[in-house]
Amino acid sequence: MDGLNTSITGRAIANGLLSIEAVNIRDFAVNKHNRVDDYTYGGGAGMLMQAEPVYLAYKSVEEQCKVKPRVIYLSPQGKTFSQNMAEEFAKEEELVFLCGHYEGIDERVLEEIVTDYVSIGDYVLTGGELPAMVMIDAVSRLVPGVLHNNVSAEFETFQDNLLEYPQYTRPEEWRGKKVPEILLSGHHANIEKWRREQSIMRTAKARPDLLEKAELTEKEKKILANYEDLW
Ligand code: SAM
Repeated sequence: MDGLNTSITGRAIANGLLSIEAVNIRDFAVNKHNRVDDYTYGGGAGMLMQAEPVYLAYKSVEEQCKVKPRVIYLSPQGKTFSQNMAEEFAKEEELVFLCGHYEGIDERVLEEIVTDYVSIGDYVLTGGELPAMVMIDAVSRLVPGVLHNNVSAEFETFQDNLLEYPQYTRPEEWRGKKVPEILLSGHHANIEKWRREQSIMRTAKARPDLLEKAELTEKEKKILANYEDLW
């Protein structure tokens, strides 16, 4: 979890806005070799994490929580993580991210403690730590105070099912490429209109699946239809 101790999440931890604790399931091994994996019943390749060490590790965490925490099992079989899910998780006081290894975890303990099965995408990784870090990062930046400017978490990609508009910073001209004139006009209403149009166009090109869920005005639908005719 060292990666989370740097940059924005690192500062939030230092400022006491977040606290992240890594618990090593191996510390709860129930045999003298400190092993937490074993062969799977019914045969097949690969090892599986045993129920008891996972359960004991979870109980040690639960004891420290004020209320029964939401337990997220990182799994390629879970629901795909999304910005909406991140927003939902950010409202929780405490979250437990359960990371599997090997072929995964004995089903019985999952049934006992897991509240949410979440995947970061349709591919298989060796362990749940990277997916957990991805989710912790996405959730953390939605916790009030973590980003200096809360506005930057408000208007961005996936808000209203639209991708964010293109952005530019100084210099005004870079290698012959100029910043769109409208952004230098100081006319806020026109800038907002331009940005909204750009968002809609980008989403139409790159993520038409998202655009289907976006709420567009009749005027915006017409503008979009005209642009689509030009493609
Ligand atoms: N045998 C499992 C299956 O087919 O569903 C895959 C186990 S995977 C090799 C080992 C662990 O990595 C999982 O228990 C899970 O915690 C984590 N993992 C792998 N891919 C993931 C993904 N796409 N999203 C979230 N967690 C994942």
